Amino acid sequence: MNQRYSIAIHGGAGTIRQGEMTPEKQNEIEKTLNRSIKAGINILKAGGSAIDATASAVVVMEDSPLFNAGKGCVFNSAGFIEMDASIMCGKTLDAGAVTCVRNVRNPILLSQELLTGSRHVLLSGKGAEDFARKAGLAFEADDYFFTRHRYEQLQKAKTEETVQLDHSGSNDGKFGTVGAVALDLAGNLAAATSTGGMTNQAEGRVGDTPIIGSGNYANNQTCAVSCTGIGEGFMRSVTAFDVSALIEYKGLSLTEACEYVIHEKLPKVRGMGGLIAVDIRGNIAVPFNSEGMYRAWCQQNGEVHIGMYRE
Ligand code: ASP
Repeated sequence: MNQRYSIAIHGGAGTIRQGEMTPEKQNEIEKTLNRSIKAGINILKAGGSAIDATASAVVVMEDSPLFNAGKGCVFNSAGFIEMDASIMCGKTLDAGAVTCVRNVRNPILLSQELLTGSRHVLLSGKGAEDFARKAGLAFEADDYFFTRHRYEQLQKAKTEETVQLDHSGSNDGKFGTVGAVALDLAGNLAAATSTGGMTNQAEGRVGDTPIIGSGNYANNQTCAVSCTGIGEGFMRSVTAFDVSALIEYKGLSLTEACEYVIHEKLPKVRGMGGLIAVDIRGNIAVPFNSEGMYRAWCQQNGEVHIGMYRE
């Protein structure tokens, strides 16, 4: 029995500028990050699984309008919301993922249902929504997901003809994709990630978040990883698996593997963003090559740290 747990969460990466943040907004974000990581810690402390801890931490951020997942999702170019999520168990290598789902309140819980209750790893659109209905998961009407700010972001992105990371551009208190990684007291790892994708993305666009090995990966031999940033770069680099492979095949430490992937490899494919990772010994790494990444971590039963900008 492992005596210690570790957990890290993120609320997205992007052009986060300290000068554009008010103390009120900062406080609101910090409070939500804190609630999210505490939800995970409470489960881990009580001997619960890394899977449950990461899913619970992500649910808190999905239920907040501040983050680009669940309630606070961004709009695609057709003016509606499509969500992606995935979760993976490091012990069994079981995984569940959904893409292009609409109106499901917590896509991460749908991914978790797939992990335990389906022979498939990835379901999309209507098939995923039908699975959610059968599993008795909560659905919400379109207006639950509507935030004026997101709508304005879409209009701006359309005018500028851009596809944007949620937290790029004006820094007004709405942030990005969310994720969590954890090591539990039984020595098992898990990773969970959830997103609304990118503002003004094409209808049907799939990012890295639901692609096992790109935006999310966990393996008890190595580490658990959750990514955030422009998904195309993470998919082309198979980033989350790459961190694990560098540890497994080259014997790199968690920090060495993460630094290499984020600062050497990703920029070569114009990849921007960051990741959170925890290894089987409870070490944590939270590297990013963007201006900032919303993050919190608690290593080896220690205190909670929260970060937003570069140190
Ligand atoms: N990685 C996500 C995507 O490309 C976006 C983000 O991390 O904010 O869909």
